[in-house]
Amino acid sequence: MEDIIIGCHVSFKSDTQLLGSLKEALSYGANTFMFYTGAPQNTSRAPIRDDLTIEALKLMKETDIDLRNVVVHAPYIVNPCNTEKMDFAISFLRQEIERVENLGVTKIVLHPGSHVGLGEEIAINNLIYVLNAVVLSDTKVDICIETMAGKGSEIGTNFSQIKKVIDGVLYKEHIKVCLDTCHLNDAGYDISNFDAVLDEFDKIIGIDKIGCVHINDSKNVRNSHKDRHENIGLGTIGFNNLLKVIYNKRLKGIPMILETPYIGDTDDSKERIYPPYKFEIEMIKNKIMNASLLNDIRAYYK
Ligand code: FE
Ligand code: FE
Ligand code: ZN
Repeated sequence: MEDIIIGCHVSFKSDTQLLGSLKEALSYGANTFMFYTGAPQNTSRAPIRDDLTIEALKLMKETDIDLRNVVVHAPYIVNPCNTEKMDFAISFLRQEIERVENLGVTKIVLHPGSHVGLGEEIAINNLIYVLNAVVLSDTKVDICIETMAGKGSEIGTNFSQIKKVIDGVLYKEHIKVCLDTCHLNDAGYDISNFDAVLDEFDKIIGIDKIGCVHINDSKNVRNSHKDRHENIGLGTIGFNNLLKVIYNKRLKGIPMILETPYIGDTDDSKERIYPPYKFEIEMIKNKIMNASLLNDIRAYYK
C-alpha cells in the first residue's frame, strides 16, 4: 500500500486527553487524527495533563504514529474576522496555541470566519490583525487556514482571499492552508478535476503551503455554498474523486482527515451514534467502495 497519512476527527476528553484520542484513532485503523481540545462550540478548556501526554507519546512510538501529523481544530465559534470578537479571538487563540504546544502538536486548523456584513476587505484585515497578535517569533505551531464553503458570509472561500491573508502576516512561515474537499466543492471548485484545483492553488498560494486536507464527501452539488458533509462515496463528489485526492502524489506526506458524519441506527433515525471511520478508512486503504458501508457500520457497533 502506498504510505498515506489517513485519520479522522476523534474526541478529546478531559480525563483521557491525548491518550484517549490516540486510542480512538488506533481503533479505526488510522495513523493520524484531529481533535478539538474541548467542545467545538465553546471555548472552555481543561488544563493539559502532562502524565497523559507522556503516556500518549509512548504509545505513539510503539504504534508508529508521528505527532507531526496530528492536528488540532480551533473551535468554530471563534470568529477572527468580526471586529467585535477580535479581542476574544486573540486571547483564546493565544491560550490554545500554548495548550497545543504543550501537547507537542504542530498544526492548528482555523476557520477564517465570517465577515458578518463588514465586507471582505475589513474581514481579511481583521483576520490578519488577529494572526499577527498570536503568531510570534517564537511560535512553534503552524496555523492552517481552512478553505470554506461560502455559507452565510464566510471568507476563505477562494484561494485569492487566503493568499491576501498570508501576505499580511509577519511570520508567514507559520501560516498554512487546510483544504476541505466538501468545502471546496460547495465553494465551486471541481474535485473531479483535482489536479487543476491544485494547479490553481500552486499558482496563487504555492503547493508547499498545504498543511492538511479534510476528506469529506458533500451532500450538496458544486457551488451550493452549503457545507454539509457526507460519508465517503455517498455524496456528490464520489469515492473515486476522493481517492484521487487522498492518493495524489503532490500531497504525499500531508495528513488526510475524515470529518464525515456519524450514522444512525436506521436510515431515518435522527440520533447519529455510530462512527463511520473504521469502515471508511478500510475502503480507502483497499481503494474499493464498500457498497454496504452504512449497514456494515451498524452491524459492527450494534
Ligand atoms: Fe473545519
Ligand atoms: Fe473541514
Ligand atoms: Zn464543514
